[in-house]
Amino acid sequence: MKPPTEAARKRAEQLRTELRAHDHRYYVLADPTISDEAYDRLMRELQDLEAAYPSLVQPDSPTQRVGGEPTKEFAAVMHDPPMLSLANSYSADEIRDFDRRVRELLGSAVPAYIAELKIDGVAVTLRYRDGVFVQGATRGDGTQGDDITRNLRTVRQLPLRVQAGRASWRTLEVRGEAYMARDDFEAMNREREKMGEKVFINPRNATAGTLKLQDPRIVALRPIRLFTYAVYAPGAQLTAHQRNLELLASLGFPVNPHYRRCATIDEVVRYWEEHERSRDALPYEIDGIVVKVDSLAQQEELGTIAKSPRWAIAFKFASRKAETVLNDIILQVGRTGTVTPVAALAPVFVGGTTVSRATLHNVDYIGQLDLRVGDTVIVEKGGDVIPKVSGVVMEKRPPRTRAFVMPVQCPVCGSRVYRAEDEANYYCENAECPAQVRGRIEHFAQRGGMDIEGLGEAAVEQLVSLELVHNVADLYQLHTHRKTLVALERWGEKSTANLLAAIDKSKEQPYHRVLFALGIRHVGAGVARTVAGQFPAMALLREATEDALQAIPAIGPAIAQSIVHFFADKHNRDIVRRLERAGVTMGGSPVPAAGSLAGKTFVLTGTLPTYTRDAARALIERHGGIVAPGVSKNVQFVVAGEDAGAKLERARALHIPVLSEADLVKMIGS
Ligand code: NAD
Repeated sequence: MKPPTEAARKRAEQLRTELRAHDHRYYVLADPTISDEAYDRLMRELQDLEAAYPSLVQPDSPTQRVGGEPTKEFAAVMHDPPMLSLANSYSADEIRDFDRRVRELLGSAVPAYIAELKIDGVAVTLRYRDGVFVQGATRGDGTQGDDITRNLRTVRQLPLRVQAGRASWRTLEVRGEAYMARDDFEAMNREREKMGEKVFINPRNATAGTLKLQDPRIVALRPIRLFTYAVYAPGAQLTAHQRNLELLASLGFPVNPHYRRCATIDEVVRYWEEHERSRDALPYEIDGIVVKVDSLAQQEELGTIAKSPRWAIAFKFASRKAETVLNDIILQVGRTGTVTPVAALAPVFVGGTTVSRATLHNVDYIGQLDLRVGDTVIVEKGGDVIPKVSGVVMEKRPPRTRAFVMPVQCPVCGSRVYRAEDEANYYCENAECPAQVRGRIEHFAQRGGMDIEGLGEAAVEQLVSLELVHNVADLYQLHTHRKTLVALERWGEKSTANLLAAIDKSKEQPYHRVLFALGIRHVGAGVARTVAGQFPAMALLREATEDALQAIPAIGPAIAQSIVHFFADKHNRDIVRRLERAGVTMGGSPVPAAGSLAGKTFVLTGTLPTYTRDAARALIERHGGIVAPGVSKNVQFVVAGEDAGAKLERARALHIPVLSEADLVKMIGS
């Protein structure tokens, strides 16, 4: 045996230390800082060194151990048989090498392969005694994992009882992958983002983080799903992997339907190519395929080495993660005034396209990752998912970087931006901000608002792009542009006259509708009605303090703060003054809130069985109730539907009663 050179020994030591740190971040903290490809390269380098100098191998080297470590928060579960990792390959040549090794070891026997999708999730093991689910665990370090039974019980696809079957199939160990579908993941993140909660980096990371939560009621709200791909039944005669998959399906376990029997390695390569092309059509993320020798007798003959079996291999797709440099963090202003930070990246080819921009969600996300301009970052792109910056390569951080500080001014109009109470988002509240003008005018003119017929999206677009209106107050000066309007494409005398008449008529809309039409964040039709009841003139409202507003039952801090910020902006005050001068109703006796829900505040979350979000809001407001944007102590009820998320989590924490749609309807009826 060749003794290792000093350089090789040093490098191996360095790689081991580095890999251990990455393992910890990836498996325990669910917060990796390098891409999988970069990690696999380091691992490969260590494996090559250890192969060249076998005396370098240590039993606790990352090359010998599976993944993570069990954490202290959960009871430990021993795995028998151990939960292995898989050797990775990235090219057709490597997969043919695998086939060659298998054939050499098997001698004259000819292997058949089962190729299946490699679901990008988290490995779990499930134990059944007498047909009943009794224990579930994570993989941990392969021999010992965390007992997460209570969390796994909440996964709807997991059978709590196996469907009949022979007695010998009733005591089982089933292994599979917990994961989140892409749409569910995006929807969950969108809601979390709106609520100002921490957003997850990718579905895998979200699944890992969720399964390690301490409160199963919160786990139950997260969209975790399951595919199973292995079964051990001590009492049964199991013979082949494909038969096992069929058995699992017949016992009621979810099995991914896309597996394929391959007689030759060429068929395996074809399967891999097909799925690399079509991966985006799947509703969940896959990061490659897994190839397994079908015969269990042959599997046993081949055995395992270190941390992976010789009879299976992962054949990964080209990574959709890449490293690049973060050149700048810029701000984008949406149609509703949300100011979103965006990463300006040195262009990098990832997931089939060149990416130079990626969303950063909000300031908290930047803080979570500690992103700094000049950093080398990891960019991820999965499916049709928007590219994301998912981590920083700390080792490559240049000297003298500075933590990101949110600018105080809107990058489009220069107004002060503000951060709403309890939210991660910043807003520009200037109604004249060019980024928002179209959206605000459409909102103003809509039915339920000022109800200006003929002022739809197309008309607004025309008026704004010709610079005939810059804000809603300009609408009431449009008559001075009559000639220009008549000459416009698709307009003419009649349409122009109709529009001007509709605008004129809108001045008679009651004060609470005007208040709603202004588009103050969180001031929906119901809130506008309530506020107008307490502050019966605009002149009073624009001087109101947050405390005075919060004294109104049902008005929480978010709404109060939003109203005060709106009127603090000079542009907004000007607009309101001009509306007043034009003759728009600015006070008067509002319609008192009446109905079975009067004085009650609700929050909506999740998908309701029959009502859409807007319809449910309208229903509540029609009966005198208020719909608040977020859960606070001023909220009396949370109406939750399917896949409710962070808001429901918050409601539980604040002990606010949770209603179903049926409960709400009943409440209205009584
Ligand atoms: P792996 O992800 O390469 O493959 C094994 C796992 O695949 C199994 O444990 C199982 O969970 C999963 N799997 C999905 N579908 C399957 C199927 N049909 N049949 C069998 N298994 C299936 O291996 P791993 O040990 O989970 O993770 C190692 C990999 O994780 C590394 O190669 C690297 O890419 C990544 N990693 C990254 C970092 C980092 O810091 N970026 C750190 C550690 C690990």
